[in-house]
Amino acid sequence: MDRVTAFGLVAVFLLPAVVVAKGNAQNWGKPVRKKAEFYAASDVPQSHIALTKKWYEIAAKEWGNFGPLEFWIVGSDVEAAKQLDSLYCRIRKQKDPKLDEEGCRKRSHNFQRYAKEGNAGLNTQRNEHSEWSGFIVTMASKNPGPQEEDYKSVTLHEYFHVYQHAHIFSRQQAERESRTQKNPWWMEGGAEYMAQLLYSRQPNVSDNHLRDKMMHKLRSIEELEKGESIRDIPYGRRGHIAYDLGAWFVAYVIHKSSEEAFRIGFFKDLNELGFEDAFEKNLGASSRQRLQEFHEEFLRRSMQEKLDILP
Ligand SMILES: [Zn+2]
Repeated sequence: MDRVTAFGLVAVFLLPAVVVAKGNAQNWGKPVRKKAEFYAASDVPQSHIALTKKWYEIAAKEWGNFGPLEFWIVGSDVEAAKQLDSLYCRIRKQKDPKLDEEGCRKRSHNFQRYAKEGNAGLNTQRNEHSEWSGFIVTMASKNPGPQEEDYKSVTLHEYFHVYQHAHIFSRQQAERESRTQKNPWWMEGGAEYMAQLLYSRQPNVSDNHLRDKMMHKLRSIEELEKGESIRDIPYGRRGHIAYDLGAWFVAYVIHKSSEEAFRIGFFKDLNELGFEDAFEKNLGASSRQRLQEFHEEFLRRSMQEKLDILP
């Protein structure tokens, strides 16, 4: 769920911009035929790989198949993770021959760290410095592990990030950030809400799933400071508040418009119109106005009234 910093910025300045402008630029943002690639550490059982594939397929069927996409699955054995790191850098070099392999091997958020700490993350590779663009999802064996129910919705969550980033074409960081909104409230809120919503609609999932998950997230209201907007909370120590209430904000925005307006309309317009105009055009008000209502009116409603906006 963490945002992972892209590695390989070392090779950057050697490449003329003209060279990197080609590659797979034309296909970015269009659904692709090719399915995701799966790589796993030697201690990861087949069942864990199959589980991840299953939930990727569910997400791609619902939201469209975007790519190029790789899943890297890390176990708990640090030595096996280290070997997976080597394979990872070889594959990177294969796909992007100009890549600085040394920089790849030295990247800080590597698979050994995932083996120790767990978690999941998406690394979107799309910048002016490397010819290859694509999505790299890392899944681990704890926080959550494959035996936990959360592993499934976390896979959907990471895939919704793929969907979000596929709708932003630019290779320039500033242009991409203006559309993602840097702080986590919008992108994380969107990924979290859409993941829980899709998960709640799968067979054999408890009827109360969405309500329970969303009720739990309301606890973050107490951590919001007086007059503070979720928009201003960065990743880091208090980031979870933006994840939780961001999910509620997206639920609220959908309640005020529709699921289609958020999931399809907004993202269709995002690249061309930018964040604010795409928001206003599809979601019925400016983001500022929706945020204001959300904090000053919606968050003050009773818990039952809040839960009533959920489908
Ligand atoms: Zn996330």
